[in-house]
Amino acid sequence: MIDDAIRVLAGDCTVIAEGTDRSEYRGRVTTIVKPDNTVLVHDIDGYQPVAWLTRADSVSSDRTDDFTLVAKKDTQTLRIAAHDQDGFANYPASAAGTPVGTCPDDDCTGSLVRSKGVRCVDCGTRYGVPADATIKDDQSHCECGLPRMRVERGLAFDVCLDRNCESLDEAVREAFDREWGCPESGCDGDLRILRRGGLIAGCEHYPECDTGFAMPGGVVDGECACGLPTFETRSGSRCLDATCEGHQRRQAEATSDD
Ligand SMILES: [Zn+2]
Ligand SMILES: [Zn+2]
Ligand SMILES: [Zn+2]
Ligand SMILES: [Zn+2]
Repeated sequence: MIDDAIRVLAGDCTVIAEGTDRSEYRGRVTTIVKPDNTVLVHDIDGYQPVAWLTRADSVSSDRTDDFTLVAKKDTQTLRIAAHDQDGFANYPASAAGTPVGTCPDDDCTGSLVRSKGVRCVDCGTRYGVPADATIKDDQSHCECGLPRMRVERGLAFDVCLDRNCESLDEAVREAFDREWGCPESGCDGDLRILRRGGLIAGCEHYPECDTGFAMPGGVVDGECACGLPTFETRSGSRCLDATCEGHQRRQAEATSDD
């Protein structure tokens, strides 16, 4: 289950915000306290809170009589004291994101949403997803029930959201391991596909040769003057070696031709 909860307090309150200045408000307001200690005090209109504190260092509340709540962050303090309490409740909360499917867990019927990865809004199960991956609900589903994501790493790969089910690394390795030679002069090594934080194409003779390039998000569309492949990325075509000038020069020549 999701153990994160949003706390909601409603009533006729005095709200005092102190920092570089001091502001005091009185009104029938609703205060929302998020699991990350963000406190928002809302009155009757507009989207903007009357007072707020983003990710407070501490939030303490007392409900002995009518509730009081004190949130502190650095030199800022937000105090809320109820004169007449209308409501107090905790509600389960999850990240919200674009829906991409349904949780494959047999005991769960929750929706999967994309928000810094993909997570189930009911059971909280989370799948890590590269930031540039695309997931379409109507795209092919894996046999395990999860949607597949499309990730471009030299080719467009469609793999299950669960890395343990279908591995993107494995697919990229199968396609490009030892596919390109190390461009370092005097080195006869092949470039291996490895994970070092992200996926890289790195020389097999590491650590003697430390040549390595992060795999760009895009598909291979040709060969650079330096011998390495070029990738069609969102920001245009580039050499596997982001610092290589061979490809830029060739592109500049091509543009000056027409
Ligand atoms: Zn679930
Ligand atoms: Zn799967
Ligand atoms: Zn090398
Ligand atoms: Zn190049």
